Amino acid sequence: MATKKKSVKVLRCPSCGMLVRPKDEDFPFCSDRCRKIDLGKWAMGVYKISSPILDPEVLEDLGELGGRHSDGSEND
Ligand SMILES: [Zn+2]
Repeated sequence: MATKKKSVKVLRCPSCGMLVRPKDEDFPFCSDRCRKIDLGKWAMGVYKISSPILDPEVLEDLGELGGRHSDGSEND
């Protein structure tokens, strides 16, 4: 078998939560249908954030979700 490392990066479809691999055609969605669903959410205003996230509190939230923790190496 000519497979690479087993650790393949996998993301979840923003629409249905199904696992999606980067090589999938509709990445980061599992299917064209879910891509359209997500676009529909944007159109309906479900997602209010239309500009880059600049709010420090939001950044903190994202940091917690992603498990990213500043270990002090980012100090001024
Ligand atoms: Zn999906």
